[in-house]
Amino acid sequence: MDFIEDLGNMGGWCSKGVRDCYGVGVWKAIRNGWENFRSHSRFSVGDGTRVKFWKDLWCENQTLEEAFPTLFNVSVNKEGWVAEAWEEDGVGGNWGLRFNRHLNDWEVGEVESLLGKLHPLSIRRGVDDLLRWKENRNGTFSVKSSYSSLSRGIKPPFPARTIWTPWVPIRASFFGWEAAWSRLLTTDCLKRFGWSIPNRCFLCKNEEETTDHLLLFCEKARMLWLLIFSLFGVQWVMHSSVKRNLLGWHGSFVGKKREKTWRVAPLCLMWTIWKQRNRRAFDGAKRNNQDIKSIFLYTFVNWARVYIVEHTLSLIDFVDWLATK
Ligand SMILES: [Zn+2]
Repeated sequence: MDFIEDLGNMGGWCSKGVRDCYGVGVWKAIRNGWENFRSHSRFSVGDGTRVKFWKDLWCENQTLEEAFPTLFNVSVNKEGWVAEAWEEDGVGGNWGLRFNRHLNDWEVGEVESLLGKLHPLSIRRGVDDLLRWKENRNGTFSVKSSYSSLSRGIKPPFPARTIWTPWVPIRASFFGWEAAWSRLLTTDCLKRFGWSIPNRCFLCKNEEETTDHLLLFCEKARMLWLLIFSLFGVQWVMHSSVKRNLLGWHGSFVGKKREKTWRVAPLCLMWTIWKQRNRRAFDGAKRNNQDIKSIFLYTFVNWARVYIVEHTLSLIDFVDWLATK
């Protein structure tokens, strides 16, 4: 695509952002459209020196950062080029991935799946990387296709599979949907609606209450997240928002037997915390940590009784059952 000049950074596909406040209005406006332009383009990799390995769209239909958020988090070279991930070995080459710590068992599975995607691809020395416009079949840009892509609206990824599952009560799914969109009526939301009230989390009384604090980072929520990880015997990297956390919640590594249970765990946890929060906010009911854990476990086993064959499962049986793949 020759209408974008090679200006030496961002892989040479575009220039630096314009910050001067005079004399550059038109170019500034054009430059500001780059991110949108990029989101409608994909790369065809040649020698891989101008395409970012994790951040550009070049392998299947997602960037590798979006497809493997956990691996991206622990990768050494987050801004690296495709060429840097390719290791020549004389007869050809291989994809070499580097991480800043040892990987857990289930992350090794993710690496295998990433390598599976990369396997049919290789870099081609002496061939330029190409930027192709996705909205036209022939890969070239047109104003008409750009306009129609804008009017179609942008649809960001949403964790629909984790939320709309038959293995949780429907009201919990609706609740999860609201939480993922940050539409729960937490105190910060009420303040945005104009209510003048002090904002202290009802459960820990330490921090401001937001959806992400309450359901991910509040000490009561963290206690339950840790309980889940220890029940399943896994380590997990939490993302910074409920939505991203649900998006990254994959279950195949816990084994087929436990997969459904693992997949419903975040909704069960968030549902439990939300109900405790409301009891505290509206009825003044204060529960200690042990009670909250027990309520969570009873809810978890009750939901599981719908799809686990051993219907008579007691709480103790259930915890044993979770401990093995
Ligand atoms: Zn809190």
